[in-house]
Amino acid sequence: MIDKVEKIWMDGKLIPWDEANVHILTHTLHYGLGVFEGVRCYKRDDGSSAIFRLDEHSQRLCDSAKIATIPLPWTAKQISEACVQTVRANKLDACYIRPLVFMGDGAMGLAASDNATRMAVIAWRWGAYLGDEALKYGIRAKISSFARPGVNMLMAKGKIVGHYVSSILAKREALNAGYEEAILLDAQGYIAEASGENVFVVKDGTIYTPPLGGSQLGGITRDTVLQLCADLSIPVLERSLCRDELYIADEVFLCGTAAEVTPVRELDDRSIGIGSRGPITEKVQSRFFETLRSSDPSHPEWFTIV
Ligand code: PMP
Repeated sequence: MIDKVEKIWMDGKLIPWDEANVHILTHTLHYGLGVFEGVRCYKRDDGSSAIFRLDEHSQRLCDSAKIATIPLPWTAKQISEACVQTVRANKLDACYIRPLVFMGDGAMGLAASDNATRMAVIAWRWGAYLGDEALKYGIRAKISSFARPGVNMLMAKGKIVGHYVSSILAKREALNAGYEEAILLDAQGYIAEASGENVFVVKDGTIYTPPLGGSQLGGITRDTVLQLCADLSIPVLERSLCRDELYIADEVFLCGTAAEVTPVRELDDRSIGIGSRGPITEKVQSRFFETLRSSDPSHPEWFTIV
């Protein structure tokens, strides 16, 4: 359960949490055509709070809406402003922010092109998605029996509500089998991404990650990790990866807004590398958290002070 806060931003106004309700004929509830974001706000060393890469998330929301043919009456700037307002109104210092764009009620046919586009921004306190232990010691993951659809089956560059059914099935399958996360292959059998994270592999001092021209989301944390690796002079290669390359990797880690940078210590019952967080993962992870918490970060352009 998440802890309720005071206000939710809905269609341009901040309203009480308990009043942020929708009609049962809300189109997105029936068919899944909606788009959303997951953003984090961090408390920094000097006590200030800053939203991480807010403008990139707002832009991705606009891009997702474009991919999903959802007319969006808000600009990326207005979406960012709504996020800042929501965090401020709830006096949150560190939180997760969920902008959600959905199709309202009206027509019930599939196209329903004239139904109103609606938007909500919800913020709540959310600690480490996979747990603090996971960040330190790593998680046990499983290659999912569910594959990511091919590049022309679902529009994976959009963060589209309905796409998450396959992520949920994969995540539930992994949890039921005693693992903490699922890694999905693409239609050709190469590594695509985890249920809500991009995948990185370390081998002989080089970091590898699947290229964006595949069936995975263009993660903003993925981009952050790539930039931090450049700062740290760690060589990175974007190329297709197969599952057995992960089995014999020195290190594997996942990254995403919710999961941040989480090591994988075991995959399909095979211990990865030293069977715990590896040194390069630790280096990237430390730089990631230092950057987020520093009031004088190396990439000030990534932060929106609340
Ligand atoms: N892939 C999927 C399927 C996701 O849901 C997410 C989380 N948004 C990611 C990757 C990582 O994206 P980001 O770093 O932008 O949160």
